[in-house]
Amino acid sequence: MDAECIFCRIAAGTVPAQIVYEDDDAVAFYDIHPVSPVHLVVVPRRHLTPEDGSQDEGILGHLFVAANRAAEATGVAASGYRLVVNIGEDAGQEVRHLHMHLLGGRHLGWPPG
Ligand code: 5GP
Ligand code: ZN
Repeated sequence: MDAECIFCRIAAGTVPAQIVYEDDDAVAFYDIHPVSPVHLVVVPRRHLTPEDGSQDEGILGHLFVAANRAAEATGVAASGYRLVVNIGEDAGQEVRHLHMHLLGGRHLGWPPG
């Protein structure tokens, strides 16, 4: 746990968030600045950075399972959704704690901006 990290604090319950799915290893909650009708952030409870993540394949795989359950919980599993991981400056990553965006609830253009 990184006491300065917003996603660690949300996972620990010390900062509130609208959680839609959680288990021992992952938490999914609504993004505070949504870009689609359903916009979730799916995070490992552990403070991993994208660089650490490559060394923890179990957690990375589990994030997909958690995202799938969060999609079911928010009603976008059937209509479709997009999972996005921003890594580094060019991708616009702001929060260092590894996370997946789950976007759904509208048609999503391709390629993304
Ligand atoms: P990044 O650009 O790092 O991939 O995305 C970070 C995401 O986290 C952004 O979409 C931002 O809106 C979201 N976010 C940042 N701080 C908070 C917060 O305190 N609560 C919630 N629910 N989302 C946050
Ligand atoms: Zn963290």
